[in-house]
Amino acid sequence: MEKHSIPFNRPYMTGKELYYIAEAHFGRMLAGDGPFTKRCHAWLEQKTATAKALLTHSCTASLEMTALLLDIQDGDEIIMPSFTFVSTANAFVLRGARPVFVDIREDTLNIDERLIEAAVTGRTKAIVAVHYAGVSCEMDAIMRVAAKHGLTVIEDAAQGVMSTYKGRALGAIGHLGAYSFHETKNVISGEGGALLVNDPALASRAEIVREKGTDRSRFFRGQVDKYTWQEAGSSFLPGEVIAAFLWAQLQEADEITQKRVASWNLYHELFAGLEQQGRVRRPVVPDCCGHNGHMYYLLLSPAHRQEILRRLKEAGVHSVFHYVPLHSSPGGQRYGRAHGELTVTDRQSASLIRLPLWVGLTPDQQQYIAETLGKIVLSTNGAT
Ligand SMILES: *Cc1c(COP(=O)(O)O)cnc(C)c1O
Repeated sequence: MEKHSIPFNRPYMTGKELYYIAEAHFGRMLAGDGPFTKRCHAWLEQKTATAKALLTHSCTASLEMTALLLDIQDGDEIIMPSFTFVSTANAFVLRGARPVFVDIREDTLNIDERLIEAAVTGRTKAIVAVHYAGVSCEMDAIMRVAAKHGLTVIEDAAQGVMSTYKGRALGAIGHLGAYSFHETKNVISGEGGALLVNDPALASRAEIVREKGTDRSRFFRGQVDKYTWQEAGSSFLPGEVIAAFLWAQLQEADEITQKRVASWNLYHELFAGLEQQGRVRRPVVPDCCGHNGHMYYLLLSPAHRQEILRRLKEAGVHSVFHYVPLHSSPGGQRYGRAHGELTVTDRQSASLIRLPLWVGLTPDQQQYIAETLGKIVLSTNGAT
């Protein structure tokens, strides 16, 4: 029998990346905000209908920019899920703020919007909506709570590039949105990200914060005759080589998304039977959400998860678990606090495995993964 070896992720290259990088090279414009960056900005602004898109080094950098833009101070509180990547919290902890962790929903594993209002205090400044697996949070409810209490909404849409909520692009619904173009995401540039500034009132300060606290962007547009230090900022812009790579990817973003969604749909069909038998739970996508096929996960017996992952690996299938909830990590305990019991977070994070999903994964490989996992799960005695 043929020996399988199916990686968890395999970065997809369109083939045009090196041509655009060569163009940047011969054009001798290598610093940030050159022609490729401008093309990427225009594409993002048009595609997401945001007021202003700015390329950054990473989603982490974009989130750090939001903390600077909102002038987050010592003792401020930021509401977010515990079931997320560390950067969601770190960006605010770096400014002295305290993450307040709210439990997630059973179905989408996104922050439970019904629990947010009770977590608001006099110190709360913002809510971070993390769109897990590229499936949207309940943005209408979140925007309503925020408006009622005068809070800013930041979307951590690292996984949500090309996803929608009620027809609107994720990242373009809150006041600010953060994208990731990390190698493990859908549209990539190695390391890379973008900040979507949806609230036009924040747009000119976002440019300043990103350009070392100066009004250099205005100077280049001829709007001021010299540029000077305006406020606290840093360097968040990538060079043109990264932007050239990203430009190749953005041009194929629709095709990349279609291919990932097709693989996601095939997994969903292949695991319908195991779900009916009560052995796994498949992802839930609410009707109002258009997702981008970022991730296919299953929830299964936590007691058997390690064994299942080990046996998958022996069969050549590289499947992985995901976040250790922040409230149970040393950093989370030191810098944050949990609002109430995070029982859903604890249960779902202990039950989750992610399956290989990348452009180029074949239906045969998916069939093999589903058969292998089915046999393993049925030979353990756990039910979800
Ligand atoms: C990947 C990811 C990030 C970090 O993205 P980088 O571009 O690597 O900084 C942040 N938040 C979430 C939810 C992510 O999945």
